[in-house]
Amino acid sequence: MAKADILDLVIIGSGPGGLTAGIYAARATLNTVIAEKGIAGGQVTTSDEVENWPGTQRINGSELALNMAQHVQAYEVDTISREVAEIIPGEDCHRARFDNDEILETHTVILGTGGSPRKLDIPGEEEFYGKGVSYCAVCDGFFFRGKTVVVVGGGDSACEEAAYLAKLADKVYIAHRRDQLRATRLLQKRVLETENIEILWNTVLTAIEVKGDDGVGAVALQDTVTGDTRSLDTDGVFVFIGFVPNNSVVPTGVELSEEGYVVTDEKCETAIPGIYAIGDLRYKFARQIITAAADGCTAALAASHFVEHKKDQQS
Ligand code: NAP
Repeated sequence: MAKADILDLVIIGSGPGGLTAGIYAARATLNTVIAEKGIAGGQVTTSDEVENWPGTQRINGSELALNMAQHVQAYEVDTISREVAEIIPGEDCHRARFDNDEILETHTVILGTGGSPRKLDIPGEEEFYGKGVSYCAVCDGFFFRGKTVVVVGGGDSACEEAAYLAKLADKVYIAHRRDQLRATRLLQKRVLETENIEILWNTVLTAIEVKGDDGVGAVALQDTVTGDTRSLDTDGVFVFIGFVPNNSVVPTGVELSEEGYVVTDEKCETAIPGIYAIGDLRYKFARQIITAAADGCTAALAASHFVEHKKDQQS
């Protein structure tokens, strides 16, 4: 890492937003560090096919993430593979404390920690995680070749992942709590036209059960209209019911929405000057790869102005 007393920018998270911020920060010659606890790309890496990244009709999610990471590397932006435990806002500078207690001082921070899959919170979900319960079709779909799976949810993720699983599994049920899907029309059409996908309308899971060996064997279902209950045999359960924001390092003083998303202005700046939030962590209308990238661009340009202004004042 290039040594400097106070960095210009620390970007936390290297999803599409963080990586785009890295590119713009490098081009603005900001002395930048990207901190990432997992792998570069974030949630995009769990997508089999991305079909709405302009200029590329279809690309595997991991490949897109790799392209973005390589693009950042070409600018030689420093990266640290560690978890940031805390952001400590300050007047002179902000501080990012890592889980090994190392501290980086920085004029600006971009929070791009994204979200994690929302859980059903029903009996068996935690117990069978990795033994039939999954939140990632690309990661685990292979184990369900020729089998039966239940996908939970009615949004873009549930439909996209169900269509992917239908290429591997014999039978895919989509259990959705309402009588209408939330997903975009194109994805709705895709699942409705796939022969081995059956939608269980007005249906919620109330438990995940074992049958025979120690893996998932069945799910307990309830009709949300009639209240009727039944059991359905299945080898796996894939849960895609949205995301919860990863806001644990968001410092006190930053405004959060009711659901825990970070509220920012149009520059992606939070209530604390010099601290920005981007991507799925940010309170906004559309959470897409392209809107995360757009946020990354906006926040990096705003951070650049902030740093310039601060240095002008100090000189
Ligand atoms: P989402 O759009 O929030 O949809 C979540 C789905 O799960 C909804 O159908 C919801 O039902 C259902 N649900 C929520 N809580 C539930 C519970 N406790 N029990 C049962 N069902 C529950 O989430 P997402 O599909 O993960 O998408 C997240 C964001 O990423 C969206 O903005 C989406 O457009 C975007 N995305 C885009 C693409 C793409 O462009 N190709 C792909 C994936 C995701 P209700 O409908 O009744 O609320």
